[in-house]
Amino acid sequence: MKKVAVVFVLAVIAPSLVLAWLAVRSVRDQQYALERQRSLLYQGVADGLAKAASALLKDREHEFVAQVQSLLASTTPRQLAVGFDERLRTNWQVARVGCAVTLKGEILSPSPHGPPESRLFLADNAKFLGNRETVEVFWTYGKVDDKFANNQTLAQNDSSKTLGTATEEPQEQQLNSAYAKKLGKAPQIRNVVPQQQAIAQTKDTTDFAGQQYSKLSSAEAEFRQLIGEESEGTLARFLDNKLNVLCWFRPPRDTNLIFVAQLSLAAIKTQLQSILSDLEPALRQEIIVAVLDDTARPAALSQTGFATNWKRPVVSTEIGEVLPHWELAVYLLDPGKLTRSAQLLKLTLSLLITVLLFSIAIGSWLIVSDLRRQLTLARQKTDFVSNVSHELKTPLTSIRMFAELLAEGRVADPAKRQSYLNIITAESSRLTRLINNVLDFSRMERGEKKYDLRRLNLVELVRETASNYRPHLEASGFKFECELPQAGVEINGDHDALAQVTVNLLSNAEKYSGSVKEICLKVEVKPEPFRHVEVQILDCGVGVPRNCEERIFEKFYRAHDSLSSGIQGSGLGLTLARQIARAHGGEVAYQSRDGGGSCFILRLPMLPANP
Ligand code: ADP
Repeated sequence: MKKVAVVFVLAVIAPSLVLAWLAVRSVRDQQYALERQRSLLYQGVADGLAKAASALLKDREHEFVAQVQSLLASTTPRQLAVGFDERLRTNWQVARVGCAVTLKGEILSPSPHGPPESRLFLADNAKFLGNRETVEVFWTYGKVDDKFANNQTLAQNDSSKTLGTATEEPQEQQLNSAYAKKLGKAPQIRNVVPQQQAIAQTKDTTDFAGQQYSKLSSAEAEFRQLIGEESEGTLARFLDNKLNVLCWFRPPRDTNLIFVAQLSLAAIKTQLQSILSDLEPALRQEIIVAVLDDTARPAALSQTGFATNWKRPVVSTEIGEVLPHWELAVYLLDPGKLTRSAQLLKLTLSLLITVLLFSIAIGSWLIVSDLRRQLTLARQKTDFVSNVSHELKTPLTSIRMFAELLAEGRVADPAKRQSYLNIITAESSRLTRLINNVLDFSRMERGEKKYDLRRLNLVELVRETASNYRPHLEASGFKFECELPQAGVEINGDHDALAQVTVNLLSNAEKYSGSVKEICLKVEVKPEPFRHVEVQILDCGVGVPRNCEERIFEKFYRAHDSLSSGIQGSGLGLTLARQIARAHGGEVAYQSRDGGGSCFILRLPMLPANP
């Protein structure tokens, strides 16, 4: 049994536990992969929209160039330059102020007596456009840094230099601090902290507070230095912490003249808003996308009425040098959803594993108990064989001994001879009984036992069986009482089978009587709970041990085993008796007797009396 338990633990329990552990791990990995996929998806959305925002600014630059060219169609650059501010603003709503400046720094437009915004523009930009002041301008690492490091012209008019910041390789972020170190400058820190930045982070890209470095760098440069030999471009600068986006164009007809437009931030914000409305409807259910300005406040939102900690998006992408420190940020509409679904998954999985382990435990218990039953049965069968052999041997020995004595003519006393003959008869009927029991049992096991059911008088049957058995009992010194009713009791039964039950019960009473050799046989008609007849066989013997009252009816089961009790038996007598009784619609039951001994009751249904 121990070996079975070890095999079971090794073959079933241990693999099940390993499987459960693997299942938990795989679900955890799946969950992680799913989260990563989600953040990659959101990162893709942010990158795409940042690229679109960047392209939008580039389109404004092209629009500006087209505007200037269409104005130049009917006039010369010098003539256009004088009233450029008014004409540009009238024709192109996106422009806040229009300006024309020569390479030498002479400002031809706007006029110092123009509207307030023009005057403000001049106050803010005159020195810069006149090359008398440097300003801080921005660029993306990995693009123009080497040029700048070599002190060459820094310009933003080449599309490959000004656009596509959002699609840059992640290494750019790593370049950031490395390059900043090279320049001896502190790297600029982004004003948002994305919670699940999908890009691999290194120590170089994240500082100790979890802040992330910006892809942008800045440097001081003069206007002429910035435009270099290029013909058009866009540059962004901060004035009193307010962003100024300037587009410029140098007409080929007069390369000494530069037309500049200050873009209206309000107009840019409106156009950015239209980019966000392109967000897929399925994503709208999950996320909010915002364009954050350089103070990390939303300049445009995919859905209005949403408020959160704007500095902590799920993922975000910098728009780039055209809108420095502006970010395209993604927020979850329901941030608890991920945690909830993870918790639900965990709960479902734990429940499943519990159920699985529980079923394995129940299954194991069932298998083990069945195994135990089978082992007991196997042991009982072995005992049965040795018991039956013993039971066969004892009567055979005495039959042989007495038959030999008689055959040799050594017994002269006729009374003795008669007694020997009686012993031979009794022992052979004991043999017959045993063989009948074994044969009947095997027939029953195979389902081949047939009953010859007829109307018969049970009292008569019991009387006949008792009188056949009486001589044997009395010869063994038993006091045998029979209390039978005068009137007959009609039942539907198989005569031989019921006689076999009675003899089995009487034989048991004889075997287990011990020193008090008294047996009583009763037949009683009972009205309750339905009218039936009872055959009771009572002895004053050892009785059935406690807790074995039902088990004695199991096949091969012996409550008193041959070795300790010295009483021989096959463990089949009661099994057969009960099966025969049940085949008649009745039952065999055991009741202990006050003062010791057993009472076995055969209950049978009665037939209605003959009319
Ligand atoms: P067996 O051949 O062992 O007697 P049975 O099926 O007739 O087989 O009985 C099963 C067991 O029931 C016996 O081994 C014995 O322990 C118990 N038993 C049967 N009859 C009696 C009785 N009259 N008194 C006490 N125990 C009994």
